[in-house]
Order: sequence, then structure tokens, then C-alpha cells
Amino acid sequence: MDEKKKQKLSMIVPCYNEEKVLRLFHGALIKQLHQLKPEKYDYELIFINDGSRDKTLNLILEFAAKNDRIKYISFSRNFGKEAAMLAGLEHASGDCAIIMDADLQHPPSMIHQMLDKYEEGYDQVIAKRDRKGEPKKAAFLARTYYRLVNKMVDVRMVDGAGDFRLLSRETIEAVLSLKETNRFSKGIFSWVGFNQTYIEYANRQRTFDESRWSFKRLLRYGVDGIVSFNVQPLRMCVYLGGVLLGISMLYLIYLFVRILIYGIDVPGYFTTITLIAVLGGVQLISLGIIGEYVGRIYAEVKKRPIYIVAKTNIKKD
Ligand code: UDP
Ligand code: MG
Repeated sequence: MDEKKKQKLSMIVPCYNEEKVLRLFHGALIKQLHQLKPEKYDYELIFINDGSRDKTLNLILEFAAKNDRIKYISFSRNFGKEAAMLAGLEHASGDCAIIMDADLQHPPSMIHQMLDKYEEGYDQVIAKRDRKGEPKKAAFLARTYYRLVNKMVDVRMVDGAGDFRLLSRETIEAVLSLKETNRFSKGIFSWVGFNQTYIEYANRQRTFDESRWSFKRLLRYGVDGIVSFNVQPLRMCVYLGGVLLGISMLYLIYLFVRILIYGIDVPGYFTTITLIAVLGGVQLISLGIIGEYVGRIYAEVKKRPIYIVAKTNIKKD
């Protein structure tokens, strides 16, 4: 960062049906932003309304009317948090940006620590949550998932490190230079590199209603995490197929020799069925995995926009 120049901080906040917390969040964040030294930092606050079906947009419009540093981008429908974060980064004009959830699970007071690290020269400051107080099952599943993913993928992903992070301008540009349609930000942030550092904060449960993530969504996100970063699963299919083929060949030779010695006996109903079942299963899994990739290629070649803006107060040149 440039020591002398006044820095502009862009706060990026994706919101989807957050009417219950948004006012509280807005108050808490503005309070923290006002604590920034005015001679050192300017700020803008970008709310992305990700097609909320409740009063979220009305609230955002109300905030924006009172404070001209508040910007908003409202999508034509729900495009997902990944799209919302991308829109925020694309429209941010700051020297650095902090992405933060609107549900108060990311404590707004952390921004000071993040900026301290930024001033030390880090390009990415990642706020990592501990998993204290989280349901044991969820924490276990998450930990196992990360262990698995890190084995398979070439980028490192850290458990508890989510999208709550500060990015320098250089990092933002790098992230935006990845044009893929299927965006898996956790992987992208890690992939672009630069100086990264972690700071920890205490985990808190969502105070208001449920997480926006259903089990189905989480599962899809999990698959994305693996599939969007390399072709390891495809390779695994090849290995698995190879091993099965090898075993089958040995078995065939054994049967053939048996027939030569003893002649044809009663056809092996059991073994036939078993083989069909095993092979069928493996083939289906492999097809499914290939399908995941083909589906992604399909989405990429269509080159559809990742989100559609219905309403915004940001003028883009
Ligand atoms: N979010 C969004 N679009 C979606 C789902 C969520 O913009 O389709 C926002 C949501 O409003 C919140 C953040 O992304 O600010 C994280 O969502 P949530 O708290 O449901 O996820 P979790 O904390 O469980 O990761
Ligand atoms: Mg949350």
C-alpha cells in the first residue's frame, strides 16, 4: 500500500433476505467505519441485494438515501453469494475491499485489525473463525471436507477461513482476471496468491433464523470446491477403472484355466450379478463425474453473464 496517500476502503456486503438483521448490521458497521481516522481512510459501503424476496432492498435504499457513501447493486433475481461478491468486487472503487456477511456472524469490529494487517503490507487478510460452539457434527463434517479437498486440489483451503477477508487492489484485479462462470471464491482467493495472513475471531451462531445454506446447497458447494479446481476426480476414475479391469482380467484367466481343466460347470450366477453390479456402479459414478465437468464446460462456453443488475446507484465508466 501507498503510505502517504489516503486510502479508500470498499465494504462489500452480499444480502439475501436479511431484513431482520440488516438495520442492526448497518448500524454496527457504520459505527466502526466512523472510527476510522478520516485523514487516513475514506470508505464506501456496497450492498448487493441478491434478489431478496423480503424488505432488504427497501432498507438498503433507505440507508443509501441518507448516506452518499452507501452504494447498492440490486440483482434481477437470486444469483447466489458468489455472484454477489463478484459484483461487489467489480464495482468497488477502493484501494482495498473487505467482504463481509450481513448476518452479523462476521463481527464488524474486525475491520480495524484487518486494516492494521493491510498497513503492514499484506494483500489478503483472512478472518478465520474458530469452530467453538458449533454443532459437533457440522464441525466434524467441515473438517473432514477440508482434509479431503486439500488432498485433491492444488490450492490450499483453510478450515474456518471463509469469504470474510480484506483484499488489496492488486488482489482484486487478480481475482477479477479469472473469468470463469463457475466461481468458487474460496479457491480463487487462494489460487491468486499474494501475501496472505490470517486473524482469528470467535465464532457465533446466526442470531436470526436459519443459515441460507440448505443441505443441498452445501453439497453442491462441496462438489464445486473439488471439481472447479482440477481434474483429479477424472483421474481417479481412470485408476479405479484400471484396477477393476485388472481384477476382472485375472478372474477371467482363472475361470478360463478352470474350464480347460474341469470343463464348463454350472454358470456362476452369483459372480455375474456381482460383477454387473460393481461395474455398473463404478461406471455410473465415473459418468457422473465426467458429467460434472461437461456441465461446467457447457456453462463456461455459453458465456452468460454471472448476474444481472436490475437497479444500482453506481455509475460505471
Ligand atoms: N447470501 C447471498 N446470496 C445467497 C445466499 C446468501 O447474498 O444466495 C448472503 C447472505 O445474505 C449473507 C451471506 O451471503 O450475507 C452468507 O449467507 P449465510 O449466512 O446464509 O451463510 P453462512 O453464514 O451459513 O455461510
Ligand atoms: Mg451466515
